[in-house]
Amino acid sequence: MTGGGQPAADGLPPLREVIAAHGLSPRKALGQNFILDLNLTARIARAAGDLAGSDVLEVGPGPGGLTRSLLAAGARRVVAIEKDPRCIPALEAIGAAWPGRLTIVHGDALDFDPDGLVPPVRVVANLPYNVGTELLVRWLTPPGWPPFWQSLTLMFQREVADRIVAGPGAAAYGRLAVLAQWRATARIALTLPPAAFVPPPKVHSAVVHLTALPAPRFPADAGALARVTQAAFGQRRKMLRSSLRSLVPDPLPLIAAAGLDPTARAETVPVEGFCALARALSALG
Ligand code: SAM
Repeated sequence: MTGGGQPAADGLPPLREVIAAHGLSPRKALGQNFILDLNLTARIARAAGDLAGSDVLEVGPGPGGLTRSLLAAGARRVVAIEKDPRCIPALEAIGAAWPGRLTIVHGDALDFDPDGLVPPVRVVANLPYNVGTELLVRWLTPPGWPPFWQSLTLMFQREVADRIVAGPGAAAYGRLAVLAQWRATARIALTLPPAAFVPPPKVHSAVVHLTALPAPRFPADAGALARVTQAAFGQRRKMLRSSLRSLVPDPLPLIAAAGLDPTARAETVPVEGFCALARALSALG
């Protein structure tokens, strides 16, 4: 299933050879579950849409399977940020095969400043699970909109992917769904079994494709929306009239101003309702 031994169209060695040559035994602390099947990395690159004319930001290229597919798919430039120094020589060999098209950044993606990227920018990554949600929340919550990226095509544990795309009433619906669906469209592009990775993780994975909307679906201040979703989903089984007490001593006027039912629970309130609550909270000053 991993297929890491097949000849590659780019003339570079199969990924199993790259891993052996550079001593890239996977490290759990760095969330290293590699994809060695270049057909699979090509499918992920295709799920990102038309890459020609885009800068692609890749977090955690590792031995470079997805990086190679992004370049082969026609990305104008790939900027790849990798924390593990062992991977850098392997990535430099890819850069030599694609002159001028790969920029390798050795560092932590949490410290990366995207200002130097040239729009349009697409983010594509088989993310390290330990920082994946944090990066997604950052990318979804800049103060202004549209963000630096046009689309995000990201691998998550299946359970996290479900929390991004869930609608009201679903068990997985929560803060992540509201944040994602307020200013973007989100869908699961493909699902992968543990055997797609080396070493196989314990759980299934899924690639989520998010496209930034030109403007938020409903008006709201990002900070106020963060506060209302945190309060409401912090106690998701409680009715709004009770869960929102962590925000204001008497939440009933707030809930009425938002046109919501005070006995409703967070998990049934649509994105539009949370935006109405955020506007009502902002109006309190
Ligand atoms: N893209 C490769 C693939 O698909 O086979 C590797 C994916 S692996 C799940 C995650 C990669 O992210 C690893 O190469 C790991 O070293 C790197 N990584 C982990 N934490 C990182 C961080 N904070 N910043 C940048 N890269 C990181």
